[in-house]
Formats: sequence, structure tokens, C-alpha cells
Amino acid sequence: MITLNHVSRVYPAQAETTGDAGNIRALDDVSLQVDPGEWLAVMGPSGSGKSTLVNVIGCLDRPTAGEIWLDGENVARISAQDLNRARAEKVGFIFQQFHLIPYLTALENVMLAQYFHSMTDEQEALDALAHVGLKDRARHLPAQLSGGEQQRVCIARALINDPKIVLADEPTGNLDAINEEIVLRLLRELHHQGRTIVMVTHDPVVARLADRRIELHHGKIAEQEVFAMADEEQFDEVLEELWAVAEHGEIAEIGRMEVHGALPVSIAVEKMAALGLVSSRPHPPEAHNHKPFVNPCHEALKPSGVSTGDGSMIVELTPRGRQRAADIIRRHRLAERLFTDSLALDSESEIEQQACKFEHILSPEATDKICAFLGHPRTCPHGAPIPPGPCCGRNLEGRDAEFATRQVEKTKL
Ligand code: ADP
Ligand code: MG
Repeated sequence: MITLNHVSRVYPAQAETTGDAGNIRALDDVSLQVDPGEWLAVMGPSGSGKSTLVNVIGCLDRPTAGEIWLDGENVARISAQDLNRARAEKVGFIFQQFHLIPYLTALENVMLAQYFHSMTDEQEALDALAHVGLKDRARHLPAQLSGGEQQRVCIARALINDPKIVLADEPTGNLDAINEEIVLRLLRELHHQGRTIVMVTHDPVVARLADRRIELHHGKIAEQEVFAMADEEQFDEVLEELWAVAEHGEIAEIGRMEVHGALPVSIAVEKMAALGLVSSRPHPPEAHNHKPFVNPCHEALKPSGVSTGDGSMIVELTPRGRQRAADIIRRHRLAERLFTDSLALDSESEIEQQACKFEHILSPEATDKICAFLGHPRTCPHGAPIPPGPCCGRNLEGRDAEFATRQVEKTKL
């Protein structure tokens, strides 16, 4: 969707003061590809070229050298007129400073973007404002709106022409926590709709919502990180927690779950629901005790990603999620047995740390070999049951039946 080949942007230095040597290489030979539907986070210190990068991608600025392909068109060398057309056609911009026209109302600001796209439709602009929660603010001037509301006008304006590419330069930089959450929700919605997003942020938690992160230093890409692997590990942690909660006959309230990982638990759960691993539903109306519950296998480690929130939604394993959870629990508990019985590790926290690593990496073959080596143990050192594997000769249906019984008991609570 977006391809940069050896892109540089050099700003001429003010000749009188700095001389020619003072040329500023805001972007220095950057090559980058962003796939259709991908969400890329751009980080880096102030002055490292982040805004320059989104400005050249967004046809607000031109590179000094290199190619920029947007949706099949090289926009690096096209005429000013074509540049304006490409921008209106392909790109929606969300800026930290909003850049709203101060003497136009929210509605007129959105309609102005339509105008540049060569059509205006007041109802459509009103709908776009309603979508970002500003139905009642359409006739207000920017100065009459809070920062969060102005940012939402900016988002409505960015989306009015249905762009495939959304560029956001520190979209939550000036917002309070509540508006930050609203704006991030809107961005996630855009991602779900399949739009390609490039988002500058200095907040690592915000960056984690993206699929991938690059870091710029002095106009060059200094670091890259793909988040998918880390997500998978956090999903495993959530599955493990759900399994242990069910073992204790408890229901799992999203707002009260504590798991390791970088994503807020509620977002991890949403992603897992999309993958068919879990489902969520409103908390059943019956009251129940919150039995103090700790997963014995994690007791020695304190989770860091503590979730806040109420208990209004609960989350349950789907059959697929249950299968994957059983496999993780099996790997974890077998690893505990191995470290305790065979390798005689005696530090509880060392055993847990190692088991938490092994649970993500043991292949099915290695797991079954360890199981056989240990004589197919039925419990972990804490006494919790180890789900049987194909090597055990035990009834694999049995564990599902057992699980189903607990689920039934749970719903009776
Ligand atoms: P960031 O967004 O990472 O803070 P920028 O992309 O805004 O960084 O700026 C990168 C570098 O380019 C900085 O050194 C900045 O001073 C310089 N720069 C940006 N815009 C201009 C401009 N219009 N004229 C001259 N220098 C500029
Ligand atoms: Mg910037």
C-alpha cells in the first residue's frame, strides 16, 4: 500500500547563519513498506524526522530524493496539482495540532474536506460528526470545543472521503485520558475496517496497538519490532488464566483479570475473540462471591499488566481456545515437574520463570517426550491436574467432559 524507496528529505539551511554544511537531513535514505491494512507506529526522539515522514507519505511535502508509492502511484515526482489530487483521494490526516479552520464550524470544517474531494454533502458530514460523538456540536466553532472534541472533528474530517490510508501525527499527544481512549477506539475501528494506518506516537502503550513499530533516529530507521509474537504470548497467558479460573469454578470478569503482557487485557480479549479463542458476554445477573483466587503456577510471580475496570463483562473459552489452553497448561505443568523432579531446581520463582518460558516454545513432540520421560504424571508439583496428551493413553475426551461439567456448575452459581 505504501512503499518508500531510498527517500531523503533535506531542508536547506538558512544560508546566512549556518552555511551550506548546516543542511538538515530530516529523512536520510529511508526505505519502508507498509502493507495494506497494516497499522504502523512510528516512534523516535523529537526532531528525528517522524512528522517529515508522515508529511511526505501524505503528499503535504515532497522528498528531495527517492520514490514514494501510494496505492500503486509514485507521488514523489508528480505535479503540484496531482499531488493535491493524490492527497484528497488517498489520504486522511489526523494531526496533534488539529489544524481546524478557526472561523468555520465543525460541520464546515468537515465539508471543506469534501470540497477538496470535489463534492459536498451536508448530511454525510453530519453523519461523520455523529459517528465521532459530536452530533450536538456540529455548529460550534473550534474555539468552543475542547481539545478532545476538536481532535474528533479532525478524525471526522480525515474520514469523510473514505481514505485507504490514515496518517496520524501524535493523535493523542494533547488529550486527557478519556479522550485518548475515544480516539484510540476510533483508530482501532479504522484498522478493523482494513485501512492502512501510519501513526506517530511517543507513548509505548499507544504504539502497542499497532501491528509493528519503527523507530527513527536522525532521519534513519534505527529499530523495527513486529508485535505479533508478543501478542501470541499474551494470548497464551490469558488462556492459561481462563483455564485456571475455570478449574477453581470461578467466572472470569475481564475487568478483574491480571495477566502479563503489553496490551490492556480488554484489548487482548477483543483480539482473541476475533481469532475465535474466547467469547465474551455480559456478567450474569446472579451475585457471586469473588473467591480470592491465585493461579498456583503463577503465585511466585507478580503479574505486571494489571487490568482496571469493573466486572460487567465476562470471558469464556471457545472449544478452540480450550484446546489451545489445555496444551499450554500441559506444557507449563510438565515443565514444572521436569524442573522439580528431574533437575531438582528448588527456587520456586526460578521454576516458574523457566516454566513460563517453556510453555511458549515446547513443540508437541518435545512435550510428549517429556511427558513419557516423567511417566505421564497426572499433577504438577502444586497438585493441579496436567491435561493428558496423545502420549498418555488417557481419554482425551475426558478432559473436555470434565471441563464441561465445571462450566455447567459455574453457570448455576
Ligand atoms: P519529529 O516529528 O520527529 O519531531 P520533524 O520531522 O518535525 O521531527 O523534524 C525533523 C528535522 O527536520 C528537525 O531537525 C527539524 O528541525 C527539521 N525540519 C522540519 N521541518 C523543517 C522545515 N520546514 N524547515 C527546516 N527544517 C525543518
Ligand atoms: Mg513531529
